[in-house]
Amino acid sequence: MLAAFTRDFGSTVPLPRDIIFPPQPAPKFTPSEAEGPEPVSTISTIEIKDMTNKLRKNPRVKWSDFNQPRQLSKIKFLVVHHTADNINDIHRLNEIEINGTRIYKYGCPTIPYHYWINEDAQIHKCNNLSDITWHAKNANPVSVGIALVGNYEKQKPSAAALKSLEFLLNELLGNLKLPVTKVFGHRELTMYGNSTACPGRFLFPFVQEFRRG
Ligand SMILES: [Zn+2]
Repeated sequence: MLAAFTRDFGSTVPLPRDIIFPPQPAPKFTPSEAEGPEPVSTISTIEIKDMTNKLRKNPRVKWSDFNQPRQLSKIKFLVVHHTADNINDIHRLNEIEINGTRIYKYGCPTIPYHYWINEDAQIHKCNNLSDITWHAKNANPVSVGIALVGNYEKQKPSAAALKSLEFLLNELLGNLKLPVTKVFGHRELTMYGNSTACPGRFLFPFVQEFRRG
């Protein structure tokens, strides 16, 4: 549990990363307002492992109490995170997130990222883009969360992980029709009240470079 508590809090001051308390129910809208099925990747060079229906849901959280599907047009930017831990097993990470009390006393509904890239640079889809997950305080309704396993305050990301991240960012930007300038490191979301070192000093320069196109 220690790992979960130290994730994304920065190096010294333990500032909560993603606290949304009490969780604010999103405005309801009917499924007919959604914009149809999410785009399917047409590029096959890097496989995206879809885990959205394979991760155990938090039995203590009624998903519909806290989340309603959003229209994809509501998504304004992508947020890059590091996990600040070395948990390389997605099911173990999921258990920590749904059992932890860091963000909410009953735990997260699921892994709070939309995509998670493991140490082998394998991209895993954890949530649908239409789900508002709890990855960046106050910015969740308008953003997509992408996390790399590791603590990039302390270590450099692998070339393979960066390749997967770059591929995923390009895929998402293309599907969501957003420019490269709409990719941020979690640490940049200060205007939303986020205070964190995430995604770490060794990963953040990649985000800046990516944004330059
Ligand atoms: Zn973060």
